[in-house]
Amino acid sequence: MEEFMLSGDIIEQIKDFYHRELTDEQSLLIDKLILNEELKKRYKMNGLCKDCKQPKITGAWCQCKFQQNFKNWTSGNNEIDKLIQKAQLKAKNHKKILEWIEYDRFENVAYLAKGGFGTIYKAIWKIELHTTIDSFNVTFCYGLCRPANVKSSQDEYKKVYGVLPYVAPEVLRGKEYTQESDIYGFGIIAYEVCTGLPPYHDIAHDKILAISICKGLRPKSDYKIPQLILDIIKQCWDADPLKRPKADKLYNLLYELRNDLYGYSEVKKQVEEADKINEKFTSSSLPYNGITLSYTTNPQAVYTSRLLNFKDLPEPKNAVDDKDDDNSFEYSESIEAIDFTKLNLDKNS
Ligand SMILES: [Zn+2]
Repeated sequence: MEEFMLSGDIIEQIKDFYHRELTDEQSLLIDKLILNEELKKRYKMNGLCKDCKQPKITGAWCQCKFQQNFKNWTSGNNEIDKLIQKAQLKAKNHKKILEWIEYDRFENVAYLAKGGFGTIYKAIWKIELHTTIDSFNVTFCYGLCRPANVKSSQDEYKKVYGVLPYVAPEVLRGKEYTQESDIYGFGIIAYEVCTGLPPYHDIAHDKILAISICKGLRPKSDYKIPQLILDIIKQCWDADPLKRPKADKLYNLLYELRNDLYGYSEVKKQVEEADKINEKFTSSSLPYNGITLSYTTNPQAVYTSRLLNFKDLPEPKNAVDDKDDDNSFEYSESIEAIDFTKLNLDKNS
């Protein structure tokens, strides 16, 4: 916890400086006294905390608020306590903070989803709005996980865990998860968010699907997605990992699109057109013509993480795009194209 802190002696010498308007002399003294670069950077940007006197992590927030609070909570498990405390002290910004929340501060706790390694519930977190750290009560919580031992596996073939529709074809073929394969998964999730439908919900998640994905199958829907957005999604799920956008590029693409929504722009036009098309479409046909989406999921569609053990999958490639605004890959054709006599269908996979 005491990784780096300013000593009382140093604090005494600099406590009356105003970090934004240091004189040359003060600036030299700071350089001499604060040798740790991270601490120096924090000081120059954010100044000292009024309470703990240490350089603040952001202009508005100091980790000591959490440290002072350590004695006031426990998860009941020492290891978990330590993990959370460490995360709180090391957090460089409010998005990286973990907090232990007592169960009775949640209401409307409801089952959300089950994964291979746990169950996720959603709930409303009741917060009191008068404490100092409340502006940071928005917690970002995410994680796509797999067992830590997967990466170093020395088995004859790599063990791949995941939810088949979100796993990039090269990973299905035994390569390791990479940033590029995460981008693929992002593309599938983005499509799901746009259409509201889980990918491949109406078919079995078996070896045939894995083969089809390697041959270029991607999620498909009659729901209209603005072309500029669809183009980005398609880049993400390109069969060639190197053709997928990097995370920072993707961020910029989406950021620009969002900005363009204010004011006249191509994407705004496309969104309005798509809304019109979808309005007609959704009022007349399933799964959209109700208050909630109604669709049936194939009993063999599996959305929990599991071992994906497919052998001899074909080299990944993209489907040939036709003039349709959507994926031209026809699932029925892909099935016909597969020589079933050569498949070693593993019932367990
Ligand atoms: Zn502090």
